[in-house]
Amino acid sequence: MLRRLLTLIVLVLGLGRPLGAQQADSIEVIFFDVGQGDAVLVRSFEGRAALIDAGRNSSILDYLREYHVDSLDLVITSHPHEDHIGGMPTVLGMFAVAAYIDNGQRYRKGDWKLVEWVLGRMGVPRTAARAETFALGSTSLRILPPPGMGGDTNNESVGVLLEFGKFKALFTGDSQYEELQYFLSLGMPTVTLMKAAHHGARNGLIPGWAEATKPEVVVVSVGRNNSYGHPDPWVLRYYGLFAKAIYRTDVDGTVRVIGHRDGTWRVETAAVELGAAPTGRR
Ligand SMILES: [Zn+2]
Repeated sequence: MLRRLLTLIVLVLGLGRPLGAQQADSIEVIFFDVGQGDAVLVRSFEGRAALIDAGRNSSILDYLREYHVDSLDLVITSHPHEDHIGGMPTVLGMFAVAAYIDNGQRYRKGDWKLVEWVLGRMGVPRTAARAETFALGSTSLRILPPPGMGGDTNNESVGVLLEFGKFKALFTGDSQYEELQYFLSLGMPTVTLMKAAHHGARNGLIPGWAEATKPEVVVVSVGRNNSYGHPDPWVLRYYGLFAKAIYRTDVDGTVRVIGHRDGTWRVETAAVELGAAPTGRR
């Protein structure tokens, strides 16, 4: 990509700074560079915070500390696979968590048993995803419950639609064809920001998905040199038809999207290309 060849210098910005006055009336959506996995922090300018997934290990702890998070109003597990829940026992054990949502599946693997044990031990109320909306200050998080057809765990990922004025973001865990089709059948809105489902795998994008949601910026949470071949070049190309910018954590590191109530946004990454940070205006 030419843009990358033109990279002149890599600047490390103060990614870890707490929200200050200059950030008023904005929302932060931070895709942590947790390797092959997902961990997304949503923070409102009022200082309310939610975490969607926790990566595959306790490195999430360092990130949350770096961003001065000490409590979480809501924690969501999209689905109980290791690359989404590996860091969850650490999060639930070390941070004050007011509410917790997962897909309600009983999963037998050891990692998940530990999550259940810590939930009980810490007295965190556990709720299976249902159609409801959480207020995170002036940001709303609409829970999109999975179809509950008892199929593949990826296709039982809890979805989340974030709305802050005209700025909207959509997260669908590791949804594949069947679940994306289900969400699409419910009617998905156009969004500003999209987390590419299933780490940008080819089965994480269906015909009609990008056309319906028309994301302006797409973020792929994916590990360097992962053995799955994620993200799929076809997926990147297809999203590229609609999006002004596509970021991937294996290349860009942690990706921080700052959204404004009027729908505009800007992006900061750990590796910043001089003069190339795109902004969007609807
Ligand atoms: Zn995954």
